[in-house]
Amino acid sequence: RTVYLNGEYLPETEAKVSIFDRAFLMADGVYEVTSVLGGKLIDFEGHAKRLERSLNELDMPKPAAFDDLLEIHRELVRLNGIDEGMIYLQITRGAPGDRDFVFPDPATCEPTLVLFTQNKPGLADNPVAKKGIKVISIEDVRWGRRDIKTTQLLYPSMGKMMAKKAGADDAWMVEDGFVTEGTSNNAYIVKGNKIITRALSNDILHGITRAAVLRFAREAQMEVEERNFSIDEAKEADEAFVTSASTFVMPVVEIDGVALGDGTPGARALRLREIYLDESRKAAV
Ligand code: PMP
Repeated sequence: RTVYLNGEYLPETEAKVSIFDRAFLMADGVYEVTSVLGGKLIDFEGHAKRLERSLNELDMPKPAAFDDLLEIHRELVRLNGIDEGMIYLQITRGAPGDRDFVFPDPATCEPTLVLFTQNKPGLADNPVAKKGIKVISIEDVRWGRRDIKTTQLLYPSMGKMMAKKAGADDAWMVEDGFVTEGTSNNAYIVKGNKIITRALSNDILHGITRAAVLRFAREAQMEVEERNFSIDEAKEADEAFVTSASTFVMPVVEIDGVALGDGTPGARALRLREIYLDESRKAAV
C-alpha cells in the first residue's frame, strides 16, 4: 500500500514518524475518515470543514489547503486502486525536540500530516446492515470536548471491548441519564415517523453523516427531533440506528439485551441507509 506522509507518497513500510511526535506521546492529533464509493470521495467537503474546525479549536497549524488535501485523497485512491473503502487522515502538532506539555512554537515545529487508505470491498452492500447490530450501554467518561475529533480514542476502544465481552457489537455511552453517542457513531431512536437524536453541543461529535441523514429524513417527510433520550426510552423505541462515515446508516436491533420491535432492522433505518447511499454516490467527488 502507498501512504502519504508530509508531502511524499511512500510504501507504508517506509513512512516513519518521530517517537517525539506529540500524537504518540500525548494524543495531540486530530483525524478524519472519509469513505470511498465507486472510487469517489463521500462528503469530502464536510470532512475538510470539520477538520479545519478541530485544528482551530486546538490552535494547531494547518499543513495543507483544502485543494491540496482533496488532491492527496484522490491520488491515494488512484495509487491504491480503491473502489470501496476509507481514507484516514491525521494531523498532529508534530515532533518537537523534547517531551513538553507546552505547545511547541509552530515556527520551529512542523505539523505531521499522514493519510492512508483502507480497502473495504462490499462496504455499501454490507451484510451486517441486513441483520443489524446489538449495543450495550456504558457510562460516558470521556473529556468535555467530544466535538473535536482528536486521536484520544482509548475509551471508545475500551467501550468496543466491553461490548465484545458482552456478546454485543458496540456500545452507546450514557451521561447524566441520557445517551450521548456510540463509541464511533451518532445514535438515533425512531418512534412512529419521528427520528430522535441528541442535539449538537460539545458533548458529541458533529457527525458529517448525521447532518446528511437528518436532511434526507426531513426530505423524506420524516419528523426530526433533536433532543436527549435515555436508554429506557431507547429500549421502548420502534427502531434504532447509528450513523458514521464508515458504516453509513446501521440499524440497531438490540439494546442491553432487549430486542427492538421484532428484533430485525427497522424500515426507516433501512430506507435512510438506501437514500444516504444513493444520494452520496451522486454527490461524490
Ligand atoms: N461520534 C463519534 C464518537 C465518532 O467517532 C464518529 C465517527 N468518527 C461519529 C460520531 C460519526 O461521525 P461521522 O459521521 O462524521 O463519521
